[in-house]
Amino acid sequence: MTTIDKSMPVLVTGANGYVASWLVKYLLEDGFTVRATVRDKTNEKKVGHLLALSKAHEGKLSLHNADLFDTGAFDDAMAGCEVVFHTASPFIVRGLKDPQKELIEPALKGTHNVLESANKTETVKRVVLTSSVVAIYSDSIETLDQPNGVFSEDDWNKTSSVSHQPYNYSKTLAEKEAWKMAEAQSRWDMVVMNPGLVLGPTLAQASDSTSLSTMLEIMDGTMRTGAPDLRFPLVDVRDVATAHIKGAMTESASGRHILVSGSASVMEIAGWIKKAMPGRCKLPLWQAPKFLIWLIAPIFGITRDFVKKNVGYPIEFDNSRAKSELRIEFSALEQTVVDHAQQIVDDGLIN
Ligand code: NAP
Repeated sequence: MTTIDKSMPVLVTGANGYVASWLVKYLLEDGFTVRATVRDKTNEKKVGHLLALSKAHEGKLSLHNADLFDTGAFDDAMAGCEVVFHTASPFIVRGLKDPQKELIEPALKGTHNVLESANKTETVKRVVLTSSVVAIYSDSIETLDQPNGVFSEDDWNKTSSVSHQPYNYSKTLAEKEAWKMAEAQSRWDMVVMNPGLVLGPTLAQASDSTSLSTMLEIMDGTMRTGAPDLRFPLVDVRDVATAHIKGAMTESASGRHILVSGSASVMEIAGWIKKAMPGRCKLPLWQAPKFLIWLIAPIFGITRDFVKKNVGYPIEFDNSRAKSELRIEFSALEQTVVDHAQQIVDDGLIN
């Protein structure tokens, strides 16, 4: 049981990111004092929305530079904090030249670095780690080996590697490192969030998150001539932020938490957008057969092995733990998608 004093500051790493920006906003609205780490607090494009939040909540939000690769970079910002929300980690799945350097090292070294700072900071009582469902599974085909076809918090990704699903591998290694470090000491405990693909409107205008590029690709015509039969485990970004705060404040919270509202295919997502804003976006017109996707995959920077193991399979998660322990009420997926699509249109991100 860990009791958190709400008057003590909390730290959020990667605070300018897509997920973390909602977390920072909700923490401020809940009255917390937030220390936000970013890579460059003078980069207006990246942190403009945080500066606006800081203005709206005077004296409650401070920005601190910290890179995941720099030893000790998080020490100063963490001083005096009881809770550390570690969200910073790249979420990039395509266009990678060196996955080891671009994904695995920042995820793994970054987690080690942040938790080393927690080990040095006497006030830290709880770490809330943003992991992912991809630390639970690698490819949708694994569904076939699951009891009832459903993944739970007991499952671990055993098959990703640097060359296959490197993002999934980075999150798996990082979460394992975090558990190793959490179990090697007794002052702070750890609560882990394992979200599915996060969707919903973004507050961050300059995020590299695959969440944002995925929605854009569904809406901007990229998949006009045929969408893959891919199903995503989905969750609303606002629910993910709420779950992080509940993970920090629920005294008895422990272990991993699957944050997935349900799953949907690309064509289902497109159907919801079409219903909400008919004729507004260049949505996929049909679902292409798997052999065609397999054939053209490399043109889109996707491996044929990925297509083989992910296209055409269901994907389901048991979210009961997050519901019972954290009292999360997941949003309806259709509303999440429509809100996200509306923000994309309102921000002029598609023609
Ligand atoms: P995002 O917007 O790209 O946020 C990633 C954050 O990590 C950014 O603040 C980024 O800073 C920071 N970062 C990356 N490399 C860094 C480095 N070397 N030093 C310091 N900071 C660094 O992506 P997101 O979708 O919000 O993801 C946030 C977290 O949620 C990640 O841990 C991700 O794995 C996890 N997650 C996301 C999803 C999803 O669907 N979005 C699902 C499950 C889990 P810059 O802005 O400077 O690059």
